[in-house]
Amino acid sequence: MSIDLSTPPVPISFEVYPPRSDAGVAALHETIRHLAAVDPRFISVTYGAGGSTGGRSLELLTHILRETHVEPLAHLTCVGNTYAGANTLIREFLDAGITSFLALRGDPPAGASEDDAFLGDLGSAAELVQLIDRVQAEREPYTEAPIPGVPGAVRVDRRARVDIAVAAFPNGHPRSRHAFEDIDALLAKQAAGATLAITQLFFHADDYLAFVARSRQAGVTIPILPGIMPITSGARLRRVLELSGEALPADLAIALDVEPTAEGQRDIGIAHAARLAREVVDGGAPGIHLYAFNNHDTVLAVLREAGVLVPATRMPQAVH
Ligand code: FAD
Repeated sequence: MSIDLSTPPVPISFEVYPPRSDAGVAALHETIRHLAAVDPRFISVTYGAGGSTGGRSLELLTHILRETHVEPLAHLTCVGNTYAGANTLIREFLDAGITSFLALRGDPPAGASEDDAFLGDLGSAAELVQLIDRVQAEREPYTEAPIPGVPGAVRVDRRARVDIAVAAFPNGHPRSRHAFEDIDALLAKQAAGATLAITQLFFHADDYLAFVARSRQAGVTIPILPGIMPITSGARLRRVLELSGEALPADLAIALDVEPTAEGQRDIGIAHAARLAREVVDGGAPGIHLYAFNNHDTVLAVLREAGVLVPATRMPQAVH
């Protein structure tokens, strides 16, 4: 399988994270079943920087591969890992049948800083893109296709089987000193072989649309999928701002603040995310990637409210 963003209706995709305990596995499998029922182009599974969730990530990816028709996309981080270790990790995922990746450098572990002596052999996501590409090429050296009209000539394709996504930062990476740096980082990832970019969350459609326009002007040609996160409580807003370094969205923060009930806050978050989804799609986004927080109800409500969810073509099967 590979990721196809070219066919209607609006392509959707989801991010989930590996269950933190055995108790969460059954509920997450149920969530995956509901997400798969709306035909997403892929479901991505996060990976703890430093390999903290590696085994559980791969288990969940394998579950998606075996139990659904949806492409599983594996986040991989290389921070703290050696070159040989990253090589082994990529092989392990390929051996399990995973052929779509989100290549990340990852943040330094808690307590370590960017200036620490060893943050891993690979310095950036772009280097991991190259390594995934190389490992795949070594396993399956190349495919050959005749070039029509040129007798005897063949087109050698070394990247027939893996899709490699990368992260993009519409409002700048927290360590960015200038907006150009974020575009340059994305250009480097594209040059290394990335085939798709997925953005960090953002709160206003213009943040994404202006970033895409600047990227295109600078020569980025790969699709840039907007990452949209439904913010369904003031506590979640505070947590994601802390993790992502994004600026406080005053309008959303005030709306969540004055709403006294959890249900009301959830409705505000869904409406905000749905509006954002609609605006970026109207502005030309190639699809919508939703941070699902291992819960299907909220993201499916966002898609319904945004008007991009066609009636499910595959109903969830009964749990055996
Ligand atoms: P790179 O772009 O290669 O950056 C590597 C380092 O270079 C950064 O940490 C930073 O120090 C520096 N840098 C990058 N851009 C700039 C810039 N513009 N200016 C100055 N310095 C810069 N993390 C996880 O641990 N696991 C996950 O599963 C995960 N999934 C993610 C999914 C998405 C869609 C996104 C957007 C982020 C995700 N992250 C995840 C977080 C990500 O690891 C951090 O944002 C990380 O700081 C940057 O990773 P990168 O792959 O983009 O690395």
